[in-house]
Amino acid sequence: MLSEFDLIKQYFQRDRSGRADLGIGDDCALLTPAPGHQLAISTDMLVEDRHFFAGADPFMLGHKSLAVNLSDLAAMGARPLGFTLALSLPGADPAWLDGFSRGLFALADAFDCELVGGDTTKGPLNICITVFGELMPGHALRRDAARIGDDIWISGTLGDARLALAAAWQEVTLGPAAQAQAALRMHMPSPRVALGLALAAQPIAHAALDISDGLVGDLEHILAASRVGATLDADALPAGPVLALQETALRRRFTLAGGDDYELCFTAPVGHRDAVLEAGRRSSTPVTRVGRIEAEPGLRLVDASGARLDLTLRGWDHFS
Ligand code: ADP
Ligand code: MG
Repeated sequence: MLSEFDLIKQYFQRDRSGRADLGIGDDCALLTPAPGHQLAISTDMLVEDRHFFAGADPFMLGHKSLAVNLSDLAAMGARPLGFTLALSLPGADPAWLDGFSRGLFALADAFDCELVGGDTTKGPLNICITVFGELMPGHALRRDAARIGDDIWISGTLGDARLALAAAWQEVTLGPAAQAQAALRMHMPSPRVALGLALAAQPIAHAALDISDGLVGDLEHILAASRVGATLDADALPAGPVLALQETALRRRFTLAGGDDYELCFTAPVGHRDAVLEAGRRSSTPVTRVGRIEAEPGLRLVDASGARLDLTLRGWDHFS
């Protein structure tokens, strides 16, 4: 049986000098952001049977645990520096730890984000990561920064992760290839870090957040914080490739109020349209214009012809 310290040493401590001045092994890690930069800090917890199914593939779980955190840095326009990992494990299962740590570090290395510390305890499976990033003061893409007249943009595509969940719950039936493609989208989200950095560079964008609980519910956070309203064109929303083949009602429901998308929703002045498209190209991330920020409070939905749609949709809420 592995001891707690053997476990940390074997699976989480790596012999490589990274970004941290001091990494795993002391009471605290030490990190120095680049001169003149601010720290951006965010925490996300993944709980078994709440955020993932018992028996979930450990490699994909390692990936997703960090991906959802990097997505928050992306939504702020921050560059990843490092992260801590608080892990509660029912046991020291080498196969699980091997898969989990490989999935975690594959993504960490891809974004040059170093594991600098954490905590390990025995208990129900629970994974809590805190990420640290850096950005220039005044460049953060805050939720309260949307302005009347801004365009609303979405990165990538929406709804395939929610469709995978619907298939797992047997609410819809997908062919095996379609189901596998959608499931990959649910288990292996790609944090839009490069796009976030490009949008924060000038800054090109005003407000941004990452869509984790469904577009409508998440966009409401920007509207409330910025004290504005918006109109969204439901037919302009980019559906995931699997969802795109489903009927209109389901497509609308899962693009507007899906969940687990980890795409960015951001606002930018009309005069920055070319700059936004260029930021998308430079970061190899598709971007789609889907609506407009307005003075009138509330969120309105229209179809491609401009006709009002009456859709009652809510974001994901763990307590209701
Ligand atoms: P403390 O007694 O201060 O809580 P620990 O004995 O829990 O410290 O941890 C020893 C070292 O290992 C610390 O530097 C801590 O940050 C690190 N550590 C513990 N668990 C993890 C983990 N799951 N991943 C990365 N580092 C960890
Ligand atoms: Mg500890």
